[in-house]
Amino acid sequence: MHRDTMILHAGYRASTETGAFVPGPQFSSTYTAPGEPSQHHLTYGRFHNPTWTAWEDALGVLEGGHAVSYASGMAAVAAVFGVCLQRGDVVVLPADSYYTTRVLASSWLKTIGVQARLVPTRGNAQASALEGARLLWIETPTNPQLDVCDIQELVHAARARGVLVAVDNTTATAYLQQPLALGANYVVASDTKALTGHSDLVLGHVATRDEEQATGLRTWRSQHGAIPGPMEVWLAHRSLATLSLRLNCQCSSAQQLASFLESQPTVEVVYYPGLSNHPGHAIAKRQMQAFGTVVSFDLASRARAEQFLRSLTLVREATSFGGVHSTAERRARWGGDAISEGFIRFSVGCESVEDILSDVTGALRQVAV
Ligand code: PLP
Repeated sequence: MHRDTMILHAGYRASTETGAFVPGPQFSSTYTAPGEPSQHHLTYGRFHNPTWTAWEDALGVLEGGHAVSYASGMAAVAAVFGVCLQRGDVVVLPADSYYTTRVLASSWLKTIGVQARLVPTRGNAQASALEGARLLWIETPTNPQLDVCDIQELVHAARARGVLVAVDNTTATAYLQQPLALGANYVVASDTKALTGHSDLVLGHVATRDEEQATGLRTWRSQHGAIPGPMEVWLAHRSLATLSLRLNCQCSSAQQLASFLESQPTVEVVYYPGLSNHPGHAIAKRQMQAFGTVVSFDLASRARAEQFLRSLTLVREATSFGGVHSTAERRARWGGDAISEGFIRFSVGCESVEDILSDVTGALRQVAV
């Protein structure tokens, strides 16, 4: 079967009771479970939920492993840190990773005695910083600069030194890139973004091929209470049916937008791994099915970037990315990333590409004035 077909059907089991094609979300916190708890497959809502199970089965198909769903992407990041790291350990983190991941390392991990080594993503630089480390954390493409590294090459370097590897796959999604197949021990994602794609929920997940590691992740979730809501999970599962349709459309439009921006004199630099002059293009071509839904670019100054955003009429100014509605923001307004004041992160949605290009053209004209 084609992978797109498998994803469309993944995790769905018609209700044996009603025959319902798509069973609804299960909200129960409590299950009738007399006597010995281990004799029951459902006992309490913090331990398990049938709506989670269906979603995790679907994620397992996508990732090629066992998946565990969490309340947010950050809950998923924290779970991997929590199960892998203890006092005295070293984690090698991308210096250009998602900002809050670095904040977690410099706050919580530091207080429990874990040291973070920050190394840039570009040029697989992390490979030369692995000595004595317990965990290598990879993010590719990075958010928001879209730098790329070679997962397989870094996995080889890490394995040779007995270092575990986790990949934050949020910007690519499991549809475009499969880190477990490339040898990573853990894949982590914010499912708030393109995987679910409708800007209506916050979720995350971790997947692994190792059953024991999956059990450790579930135990962490139960004990820390980082559980997802059944409604969010049900909505997420519903969104998966259109994953290939959405992402194929968004990636194609993103590629066209990136090429268009390159031709614009008002745009200083365009960052998109699908462009042949991107430093990570060859790697991205090898390890990704397409180049993603986000295009970043530099308009040189805060004033020009703000003018651009004010002049958009279709594309909304908002944070987050990967949704069916195109959005853009001046990323430096948040701080924490080594980017210029004029840096724009543009998330390409499912609108007609002509409409997106027309809106961007109009807004760039205002910047030029
Ligand atoms: N990882 C990356 C790369 C992200 O971009 C984000 C959020 O933007 C997260 C993790 C955290 O995800 P969430 O906002 O769902 O907690």
